[in-house]
Amino acid sequence: MFGQNPLRPPVTGDGSVLEVKHVFPTLQGEGPFAGQPAVFIRLAGCNLACHFCDTEFEDGKDMTLVTLLEHVSQLSCDEKGKRVRDLVVITGGEPLRQPIGPLCDSLLSNGFRVQIETNGTLYRPLDGSVSIVCSPKNTGQGYHPIRPDLADRLSAYKFLVSTRDTAYAEIPEWATQAPVYVQPMDEYDEAQNAKNLDFATQLAQQRGYRLSLQMHKLLGIA
Ligand code: SF4
Repeated sequence: MFGQNPLRPPVTGDGSVLEVKHVFPTLQGEGPFAGQPAVFIRLAGCNLACHFCDTEFEDGKDMTLVTLLEHVSQLSCDEKGKRVRDLVVITGGEPLRQPIGPLCDSLLSNGFRVQIETNGTLYRPLDGSVSIVCSPKNTGQGYHPIRPDLADRLSAYKFLVSTRDTAYAEIPEWATQAPVYVQPMDEYDEAQNAKNLDFATQLAQQRGYRLSLQMHKLLGIA
């Protein structure tokens, strides 16, 4: 997308139909659940347009909650029907743009663990057992404010860091409510990415943050 996507506002509804871009099995590559087999639900649309965003999340299709749950259940199982993925990651785009409360409740009641990946600018009440990982985004003039009601619910912050993009050269002091992961920004430039990796490693070691690598990219999987 690289900042070219339309800004899409939050939508209302009862959550019985969601606009979905993609549902797929993979390994969670980033943050506190890194390395765990998961089913990803990528919801369509985002309320921000970040210049480094490499995710395709436009042109989603409406899916009923029932169909979505069936799909997730199938993808969570091996060929013998045994569940091998009990983690469902709801991402986007911005997943809190859509009414995902009923989806989370249904997944939890079907025995899944649920993790949300959000940019922190939107919030909806969700079951307390849903893990929320917030990756704050910077306008160049500062970070978009994190919703206070969301901040109280966070399992982790995940900050992208870069030595080239000065907006991503520091971890802000207000990120105190949850453990902080630092992740080198992928700038599609091998030399720059090496600098970002070195920078993230230093930050982790010198300031006590946790290092997050995009394991799925290292492995060449979705
Ligand atoms: S908030 Fe995330 S999904 Fe949305 S444009 Fe920025 S990087 Fe992409």
